[in-house]
Amino acid sequence: MPCLNVGKSSEFGAFAGITVCEPPMDVAMAIMSDLQVEIRQSSNIVEQVESMMQEANDGLFDVMIIGGGPGGYVAAIRAAQLGGKVALIEKGELGGVCLNRGCIPTKAMLAAADVYDTVVRRSSEFGVNVGEVFLDYAKVLQRRDRIVKTLVSGVGYLMKRHNIQVFKGTARLLSKGEVEVSLNDGSKQTLRGRNVIIATGSVPATLPIPGLDGENVWDSDGALGAVEVPKSLLVIGGGYIGVEWSYMFRKFGCDVTIVELTSQILPQTDSEVADELRKFLEKDGVKILTDSSVRMIDHRDGKEFALVTSGGSEQSIEVDKVLVAVGRRPVSDGLGLESIGVATERGRVLVNDRMQTNVPGIYAIGDVVGGALLAHKASEEGVVAAENCMGRDSRMRYNTIPGCIYTTPEVATVGLTEEMAKAQGIEYKTGKFFFRPNGKALGIGETTGFVKFIADAKYGEILGCHIIGPHATDLIHEAVVAMNSEATIESIAHSVHAHPTLSEVVREAALDVGGESIHKG
Ligand SMILES: Cc1cc2nc3c(=O)[nH]c(=O)nc-3n(C[C@H](O)[C@H](O)[C@H](O)COP(=O)(O)OP(=O)(O)OC[C@H]3O[C@@H](n4cnc5c(N)ncnc54)[C@H](O)[C@@H]3O)c2cc1C
Repeated sequence: MPCLNVGKSSEFGAFAGITVCEPPMDVAMAIMSDLQVEIRQSSNIVEQVESMMQEANDGLFDVMIIGGGPGGYVAAIRAAQLGGKVALIEKGELGGVCLNRGCIPTKAMLAAADVYDTVVRRSSEFGVNVGEVFLDYAKVLQRRDRIVKTLVSGVGYLMKRHNIQVFKGTARLLSKGEVEVSLNDGSKQTLRGRNVIIATGSVPATLPIPGLDGENVWDSDGALGAVEVPKSLLVIGGGYIGVEWSYMFRKFGCDVTIVELTSQILPQTDSEVADELRKFLEKDGVKILTDSSVRMIDHRDGKEFALVTSGGSEQSIEVDKVLVAVGRRPVSDGLGLESIGVATERGRVLVNDRMQTNVPGIYAIGDVVGGALLAHKASEEGVVAAENCMGRDSRMRYNTIPGCIYTTPEVATVGLTEEMAKAQGIEYKTGKFFFRPNGKALGIGETTGFVKFIADAKYGEILGCHIIGPHATDLIHEAVVAMNSEATIESIAHSVHAHPTLSEVVREAALDVGGESIHKG
């Protein structure tokens, strides 16, 4: 190209900041037209790249959740609420253990046990005389299964309402952003996304005790499958699952013995509350052996003989069935976690308080991360993980997670026990009030138990609340809300509570922390 005014910058040069020589007009026109073609071509390329990216994004999930229990399905809803494109992979039924094999079926059965007990043993106390009463256990199970079905289909409806894509199959991580699903119909599909939440839950744990593999030995899933109430049952483990099953079968007429390794049933619970529940269970006829362990189970003539050691002595207990309720094991095998370097400890996925694992973009929640194995804890962790996946900064607070046991009397606790406050060297005060003199409790015929508060001695901050008594599992939330808002004990003590209600006992216990209970005798 002829070069005029060599060295002089032209406006063409501005195109790429390059100095070029000014060409004659016809050459300039040719260059212009070439450039326009190039610009058109390059803008086509930009459009093509954009559309390819759009296509790639269209197939890309913001969050892929493995496991549809109360952790996973709640995380899915929260991520969708925040505008996320969400995939939920579940190999079994939506709702996980909680809806299908845990919280819901057991509570439905506990309610039946209470109705039966009230009708058989207590109705005449209320002036209600009934004729012949018998237990139709098959109907108890049918009602239970109907409730489960209703709730499971409710979760399915919520998934649709939030446009969450549900994949029925088993998931495995191929890489940080790729999940392979072996669909229940036999086919395979690979999903791609920005974040993964592992919510695979837990399964019943067992112990290396000889004889625990016999056909008359159940775990909590096996107990749900029972079509009749056993005549006698040995329960290994006095945690909340063991205690609830013991209570329920006892109410249905079974002869129950609990064997617990530590010195109290409900080992993590305030000892005053645990001791009180023990008294009620024993009054009902449940035999409880603490500081005891089962050494072996011998199967003879259709019966189980458990060799139990208590202190220095041994005894053989003959039962029809054995229920192993010694805790649960996280489900993390086969997920491909090792291949992408997700840190675990004895199967538990390690996370921080944002529910992040050590691998960016991979989160874990619920039973698979350990801690308190509770549905509402799993759900809250699901909310936290989903919010972090969607760009928020959320953290878990564990000190206000309540724990509830659905026996009669019910048990509910939140925060520090008195033993924990003592062990941590905290200066604390306690306040306590019994249900016995409460008008509502007398009216409904449930006067057992008490409310106990533990508060910081100097500032009155509520550190813990422990309730055993009627509707404890509902009453506890007054303390939960107060603790979550960092309210002091005075905020409960100086709030008017309606009369007659069970919540008046909560207020009296709060007043008692400052020695100001009105109705304490
Ligand atoms: C008898 C019993 C009673 C209980 N009662 C209560 C109670 O009253 N209150 C309470 O708060 N808690 C209770 N729990 C505990 C509660 O059920 C659990 O804490 C809760 O279900 C944990 O929720 P999650 O979402 O972490 O896991 P889960 O509910 O275990 O759900 C995990 C899901 O992941 C699926 N999954 C696992 N691996 C894969 C995979 N690779 N691909 C696809 N899907 C997979 C499983 O099929 C399962 O559905 C009870 C438990 C039991 C056993």
